[in-house]
Amino acid sequence: MSEVRVRFAPSPTGFLHIGGVRTALFNWLFARRERGKFILRIEDTDQSRSTEESIQAILEGLRWVGLDWDEGPFRQTERIDLYRQHAITLFERGHAYWCVCSAEELEARRKEAQAKGLAQKYDGRCRERGITTPGGEAALRFKAPQEGQTVIDDLIKGRVVFENILLDDLIILRSNGYPTYNFSVVVDDALMGITHVIRGDDHLTNTPRQIPIFHALGYAVPRFGHLSMIMGSDKARLSKRHGATSILAYKEMGYLPEAMINYLVRLGWSFGDQEIFSVQELIEKFTFDQVQKSAAVFNPDKLLWVNAHYIRQGEPKRIAELLQPFLAQAGLGDEARAMPAGWMERLVMALRERSQTLVEMAQAAVPYLQQDIPIEDEAAEKFLTPAIAPILGHLAERLAALQEFTKPGQEAAFKEVMERAGLKMGQLAQPVRVALTGRAASPGIFEVIDLLGRERTLARLRKGVERAKAARP
Ligand code: GLU
Repeated sequence: MSEVRVRFAPSPTGFLHIGGVRTALFNWLFARRERGKFILRIEDTDQSRSTEESIQAILEGLRWVGLDWDEGPFRQTERIDLYRQHAITLFERGHAYWCVCSAEELEARRKEAQAKGLAQKYDGRCRERGITTPGGEAALRFKAPQEGQTVIDDLIKGRVVFENILLDDLIILRSNGYPTYNFSVVVDDALMGITHVIRGDDHLTNTPRQIPIFHALGYAVPRFGHLSMIMGSDKARLSKRHGATSILAYKEMGYLPEAMINYLVRLGWSFGDQEIFSVQELIEKFTFDQVQKSAAVFNPDKLLWVNAHYIRQGEPKRIAELLQPFLAQAGLGDEARAMPAGWMERLVMALRERSQTLVEMAQAAVPYLQQDIPIEDEAAEKFLTPAIAPILGHLAERLAALQEFTKPGQEAAFKEVMERAGLKMGQLAQPVRVALTGRAASPGIFEVIDLLGRERTLARLRKGVERAKAARP
């Protein structure tokens, strides 16, 4: 068996869509599993729509999720001469012809055909004209076969049969000298030795157009696999209406790259009812047999669930590093960097059970990093009452008196205060929580104290006492 060579070939006309990432992922997994090559090719020949910014977004998005490429990124705009040479070869071999029909003529004839209920394809007017050197503007058209069938033995969809009579004589070289997609893609797939073309099934109808071009050029035809689309819950093709579709938007919303990979692979591929897979496991388990034929439905809640899983399970040190930009965005970057070694990891461990995204985690981190914390009015009204003031004061005193500010001592202080006041842990912990974090929900109270340390704990408790004293009974 020759080496597997696959490619991801995005058109840089916008951000990198999560559907594109899924296509790249399936190609990448297959290449890694088969110890083949994954090639990145930027299809930027549509110069009116391609942008450098979009190329950068594609590279950044792929790097972020860890889909590394072995060759490329190739850019089609740097390979124009190759397409022209191949187009001329087709012309010389009689597989292509110059077409001088103007856009207006074509449009008029298309409308006429439509009105008569005929196929709206190029009528072949220039096919027999035998133009050898066009005087003015001319495009080169491919002589598509008009008899028989083109059969695709699709890796995912199975056998798909197309009638060649429906094939249009495609333009392969526009009058401006630029190749069209269906032509440049064949030249590249052939020259790059692509063995398997795995792409979205929006390209399924392009495949019978491309196969005859491989034949005409005398190149081997690769295998094809067409992935079904991703839809929103309303069964419409996934779009902005269903939420963010750009991969980098998910990065900004605090998703982890491994969660994106794990979620996207399950959009259309399964292995029993297993939900969580490491990348290594995916490389071992991924096969096209398990890729579903029907469209997959994007479920943002499930993605969030997968993300929460990876936040909980992730190495705290790494999660802390990933959290840093989100803290910086919240204006707490310097505070976080100033914390002693190991502190950020403890913060992550305290917050990870309740954080579904890094944005949520950064939000939850505010009370532990910000110097002055506002106390939420509702929480204060409910828990910082005049009656609790002396009790909190007593606790502050007991904690201040500890020789060593460690958990056993803190627990003993709580116990003593509770006993004297006749309160249960929940009744004391809640006002303490509000005083220490400004909020009515937080990690366990001793974790909070641990994160804040002695000075901040005491200062905030004392402030809480003042607030409680001043409250209306
Ligand atoms: N450039 C095409 C696109 O972005 C993909 C072409 C292909 O995979 O054959 O839709």
